[in-house]
Amino acid sequence: MREIGHFIGGKHVAGTSGKFGDVFNPASGDVTGKVAMADASEVEKAVAAASAVWPAWANTPPLRRARVMFKLKELLERNRQELSAIVTAEHGKVLSDADGEVQRGLEVVEFACGIPHLLKGEYTDQVGTGIDAWSIRQPLGVVAGITPFNFPIMVPLWMIPVALACGNCFILKPSEKDPSVALKLAELLQEAGLPDGVFNVVQGGREAVETIIAHPGIAAISFVGSTAIAETIYRGGTAHGNRVQALGGAKNHLVVMPDANIDDAVDALMGSAYGAAGERCMAVSVAVAVGSAGDELMAKLAPRVRALKVAPGTDPDAEMGPLVTREHMEKVRGYVDLGVKEGANLVVDGRGLKLQGYEGGFFLGGCLFDNVTPDMRIYKEEIFGPVLSVMRAPDAATATHLINAHEYGNGVALFTNDGGAARDFAEAIQVGMVGINVPIPVPMAFHSFGGWKRSLFGDHHIYGPEGVRFYTRYKAITQRWAAGKRRGPEFVMPTLGR
Ligand code: NAD
Repeated sequence: MREIGHFIGGKHVAGTSGKFGDVFNPASGDVTGKVAMADASEVEKAVAAASAVWPAWANTPPLRRARVMFKLKELLERNRQELSAIVTAEHGKVLSDADGEVQRGLEVVEFACGIPHLLKGEYTDQVGTGIDAWSIRQPLGVVAGITPFNFPIMVPLWMIPVALACGNCFILKPSEKDPSVALKLAELLQEAGLPDGVFNVVQGGREAVETIIAHPGIAAISFVGSTAIAETIYRGGTAHGNRVQALGGAKNHLVVMPDANIDDAVDALMGSAYGAAGERCMAVSVAVAVGSAGDELMAKLAPRVRALKVAPGTDPDAEMGPLVTREHMEKVRGYVDLGVKEGANLVVDGRGLKLQGYEGGFFLGGCLFDNVTPDMRIYKEEIFGPVLSVMRAPDAATATHLINAHEYGNGVALFTNDGGAARDFAEAIQVGMVGINVPIPVPMAFHSFGGWKRSLFGDHHIYGPEGVRFYTRYKAITQRWAAGKRRGPEFVMPTLGR
């Protein structure tokens, strides 16, 4: 059986804890590898490797750090097919979607190539007579990233390029469900010229994470995953004096106004609800049909959901692959059972799907509920599977109120042809990322990504300019060179401008 280990100090390292987790091919259900589950001593080795090289990396001019990013960009482009294949083999998503994930990660590398410009501070000549002042941003030290299963390369790349380009060393703790692509990334970073020890991968789960949270040698933690763990990591990390950004779960709504082009809205819902089998933090899991939009929407949506092409991710015709594990598939199926019990109308039932030759795979067909109400658990909780709930609202104000009352606030979309209604909605909605006629408004790499409410704990969104702020500390310097002029002691508060 293939063993999936760590990458520490520039070398592949086998696990020493004696504990392993199963890694599956979700399309067949077969175990394809055993991932090492690190104990505290293995995390310790990674922190020691990173701490030893941090001073030299922090002192490397930003231009040279940027050159590593330029080279990494080239290597990611050259290796993208292999990277996508590794993602599909362990996650299950269709290959074209895995390629899209590589692309969105690559764009953060492109952003980090501009780090000399991004780290430029501000300068003021003559804040007082003969006195100048400026500000700089300096790296934090050794930082850690803890990432979820659903984007095993894109989410690590939301963090790593910016953190490294800013002059930090990085320890990645990937999801134990699809851990292999992180090791390929480590090899590419090494090939790009990154000094050994600056980037390390420690595989594992709770024990590794708890060691990271409490480790005095780690200055900051970026986490992406479910809300319960995000909150625990935020509380634990900040209690230990760490800077933490912890991105959590979601329940993303797409509002369809009566004046919207319903065909466009249906296309948008198909891709955003069922793409990646709904295992995206920006997946739309609730459609809110306003006024007369509801019946036409349902009439057009239901046949499309029934016709979804569900197949292994390697099938070029597949629109949707399997779920990541049997356990997760059972959990999603359990939510569909629950929705029926709660009284929602299950218009399309994907629970009976069987694929010939893939009977052991973790497949579930697309499911569509109508007449879902705010008190139902299938509305309140994140399902993270191919299940779309349709709700009805009499007007835009009711839809806005409904969304603002939800505990999550990651992404939202409005489909309309009315510019004024769109503007009002974007202003009033309490959600971090808003799409107008765009179903999955994931900001480009030169903006920043993050939700509101219980979708993000911490002060900074991730990547883009917010990433640069998160991974650096601000320093303000005030300087006087007044050779030969003695001023004597000053006992009043300095007022340089006088
Ligand atoms: P998860 O919370 O189960 O796991 C995330 C990470 O935390 C993994 O590395 C895992 O090993 C670790 N972990 C799990 N249990 C832990 C514990 N008890 N203590 C410490 N660490 C633990 O999430 P997942 O199932 O891998 O990913 C899906 C979730 O991630 C969904 O809720 C989804 O919405 C969310 N997500 C959010 C975003 C975002 O940007 N907001 C992006 C992607 C995914």
